[in-house]
Amino acid sequence: MIKTEYYKDLTKMNTFGMKVKARCFMEYDSVADLVDIEFSELARPVLHIGGGSNLLFTDDFKGTVLHSKINFIEILENHPEGMSRLASQENGDMLASSSSFLPEESLSDYHPECPSVILSGSEGFAAPVLVSVGAGVVFDDFCQWAAQQGLWGVENLSYIPGEVGASAVQNIGAYGVEVKDVIHTVYCYDTVEEEFVSFPVQECGYGYRDSIFKDPQIKGRYIVTHVVFALSSEPQPRLEYGHLAAAVAEACGECHSIPEAPSQLPLGPSPYPVNHPKNPQILGDPEKVGKCLLHTNGTSPQSETNHLTPALIRKVIIKIRKEKLPEPSVMGSAGSFFKNPVITPDHFRKIEAEAKAEYGPDYKVPHYDLPDDMVKVPAAWMIEQCGWKGRRSGGAAVYDKQPLVIVNYTGEAYPEEIIGLERRIIDSVKQKFGVGLHPEVEHI
Ligand SMILES: Cc1cc2nc3c(=O)[nH]c(=O)nc-3n(C[C@H](O)[C@H](O)[C@H](O)COP(=O)(O)OP(=O)(O)OC[C@H]3O[C@@H](n4cnc5c(N)ncnc54)[C@H](O)[C@@H]3O)c2cc1C
Repeated sequence: MIKTEYYKDLTKMNTFGMKVKARCFMEYDSVADLVDIEFSELARPVLHIGGGSNLLFTDDFKGTVLHSKINFIEILENHPEGMSRLASQENGDMLASSSSFLPEESLSDYHPECPSVILSGSEGFAAPVLVSVGAGVVFDDFCQWAAQQGLWGVENLSYIPGEVGASAVQNIGAYGVEVKDVIHTVYCYDTVEEEFVSFPVQECGYGYRDSIFKDPQIKGRYIVTHVVFALSSEPQPRLEYGHLAAAVAEACGECHSIPEAPSQLPLGPSPYPVNHPKNPQILGDPEKVGKCLLHTNGTSPQSETNHLTPALIRKVIIKIRKEKLPEPSVMGSAGSFFKNPVITPDHFRKIEAEAKAEYGPDYKVPHYDLPDDMVKVPAAWMIEQCGWKGRRSGGAAVYDKQPLVIVNYTGEAYPEEIIGLERRIIDSVKQKFGVGLHPEVEHI
């Protein structure tokens, strides 16, 4: 069914909380509806939104805003009809089902000498569990569902705002995982050729928060209808990012599986038993750690939240995110406002020399060396160095716990106030470091 509204208030449909209206707003709840829409006749421009969590509306929208309510989660693989369902979707058949199935897990691939450890390498892994998810599903609802099923793959992406369709456009990422790592195929409606098409993950042109769907040449042409993810019923913890491993180990409670060094994680598959001297990944009481990992093997994924399960990792990540980022329902934002700039090594050395002159010879400027010899410097560090952290400008402010985030501090901020603050930050970073910041947030 298609619901059409005119002069629709979008305040609650963008996490920045900009008080704007759309001249025409159309919400549909099935793939079939897309065929019925006459795209050539829609008021232009046309914008498809998800949860509006990466958008900054700078004014009322003069054209048509589309929104998907295609909501289903369905396990394809392991279900007798799984592959034929995939095939029928490729033909553009409707996917009306909202049922979900428990995977018929195979527990036979464990190391024979230590049932709590899976063999690494291709010989040891069970087939992925293919899960088809409608574009209108809130991405975090999908993460919660996967954790409840004991399925691995999206737990690190927990609590990222937005919907499944946009996740495949944005290639969302957090805590060492990008959604492309678990995407199998992206299904779309081509509004130009008026046909259903599918993009295997290799054809999506994924890069850092980037995909072909963002390419200016084709942006807006493809509407994501649903995404098939390849999850795993076997433990695949990804804990190498920052202090995540330590936080998860702490949350393991009674297990006390303290990691030796976060950089050596993930805890994941090792060919050695957990207490084997050649297993470098985990220290701690072997009996308890063994018990902890035993519970990763799908014995009781939903209930054992103090053992290493997707649900436990999800819980830890949500806690960390709540401490660092503004809750969209409490304070409007679009997450990271700026991209992290990439500069030449010479430029970086100059910035670091100036920082050492100011803070002492031991001071280290945070940075990541990129494979192409360039250097990525956190925009948050630069913004903080320019004194913006926590500063207000009208109704807008730089978030006091994370300077990369601009917030609608009063809840009443005008787009001009957000843009004005953005401009002043860009100018001062340029002046102090000679670096141009670019927004991550899409200005509409
Ligand atoms: C507090 C906060 C924290 C955040 N943290 C993270 C984070 O950790 N990692 C991260 O990667 N991002 C993060 N973000 C950014 C944001 O959540 C993601 O970019 C998210 O994927 C946007 O989803 P959305 O549904 O809100 O899309 P929108 O913002 O509505 O749209 C984003 C883009 O996708 C397009 N689009 C939406 N739906 C479709 C569709 N069905 N078909 C085709 N195109 C479509 C839109 O046209 C637009 O170009 C954060 C945002 C906030 C507010």
